[in-house]
Amino acid sequence: MGSPENMRAVMKLITDGEQKIVVLSAMSGTTNSLVEISKYLHQKNKETARLEIGKLETKYKQVIAGLFTSEESKKSGLKVIKKSFDTIKSFTSGSFGLLGENTILAQGELISTQLFTLLMVENGHKAKLLPALKFMRIDEDKIADTHFIRKNIKKEIKEVGAANYYITQGFICKNANNEIDNLQRGGSDYTASLIGAAIDAEEIQIWTDIDGFHNNDPRFVENTKKIDHLSFNEAAELAYFGAKILHPQTVLPARVQNIPVRLKNTMNPTDGGTLISSETDGQGIKAVAAKDGITAVKIRSARMLNAYGFLKNVFAVFEKYETPIDMISTSEVAVSITIDNTQKLTEIREDLGKFGTVEVDSGMSIVCIVGDIIQEEKGFASKVFHALDGIPIRMISYGGSRYNISVLVPTVNKKETLQALSDNLLEG
Ligand code: ASP
Ligand code: MG
Repeated sequence: MGSPENMRAVMKLITDGEQKIVVLSAMSGTTNSLVEISKYLHQKNKETARLEIGKLETKYKQVIAGLFTSEESKKSGLKVIKKSFDTIKSFTSGSFGLLGENTILAQGELISTQLFTLLMVENGHKAKLLPALKFMRIDEDKIADTHFIRKNIKKEIKEVGAANYYITQGFICKNANNEIDNLQRGGSDYTASLIGAAIDAEEIQIWTDIDGFHNNDPRFVENTKKIDHLSFNEAAELAYFGAKILHPQTVLPARVQNIPVRLKNTMNPTDGGTLISSETDGQGIKAVAAKDGITAVKIRSARMLNAYGFLKNVFAVFEKYETPIDMISTSEVAVSITIDNTQKLTEIREDLGKFGTVEVDSGMSIVCIVGDIIQEEKGFASKVFHALDGIPIRMISYGGSRYNISVLVPTVNKKETLQALSDNLLEG
């Protein structure tokens, strides 16, 4: 939702008479602005922070002028804005830490949901605001506390009373210390899935401005096709690569409760989008996708030969620096690992140096092939390798899951890799 027009369009889309919970993220651009503001506050650049806060506040005053018709709603809208901006401004004096930042980031969703609820009510819809901070919670390990959510969302629905449309905030939550926190950027999708699972919804719908998952990356390959249906297994493999489309954790809660997830396009609402469910359409390759910004780390050690516990020690280094590993490939005396978070690369490199020689290659991309694939099928591997003829492959992961084959290539070769896989493996 980027403008009053878009907010009205969303209202039209959702008011079909069917009871639902509507999870909203902040108006577009807002979270980015709030991240910027927090950055200035961390840098103690209060002047610039105040300037940016002022700009954002002006923008919201314009939104209110364009959104509501009655003076009463406009007044209520301005009150919402004032409260949030007073909170944001309170951090321009005194010290600033993570809790301050999370509190600032939360204002985007707090504002959008309150304005949207006012809009719904002004237009005669039976809508109520459901405060997410009362039921969305993560535990000490930053994992969603599904028991707490299930119990408390039901309590909260009772508390606010009967409505056709419950409007709630995506992204924001409380943590184990009962402080404001969030589910990471793009987390509104994840909120929707957690709520859908908690209330045993019929379907969870994620609305964006694209038609759902495509069978290849439309930014690099021509004539890609929308995928109508994916199984939970296939979607789980693809989610990491389509983080811009779908927050990677979204599928899990839905899958646990076996609730279908549908990706829909607000620009094309009659299209069925991509449906993700427990059903499978049978075997075959469904999609290829790529992720940039990958770094490969190779550890070579004579000590690895015939030793047990070697990999455990290597993995422990990544665990120590809270750096997730994606691909792994091993030989008798070496192991290659890929990561996308290089914040602690220097430390990781130093620690790994105790085991053997370490080599690092950056500027890599993972290209993955997703589908229900019978990898043992005679000739299948040769088909994949044939498609990749001429591509300099740095790593391969084959057989880790029947739903994914991944290759690591230099990012400069990504486009031709995607194209080659499309031409040779996907049905036209
Ligand atoms: N507003 C948050 C963000 O921009 C959450 C979301 O949009 O899903 O990341
Ligand atoms: Mg999103």
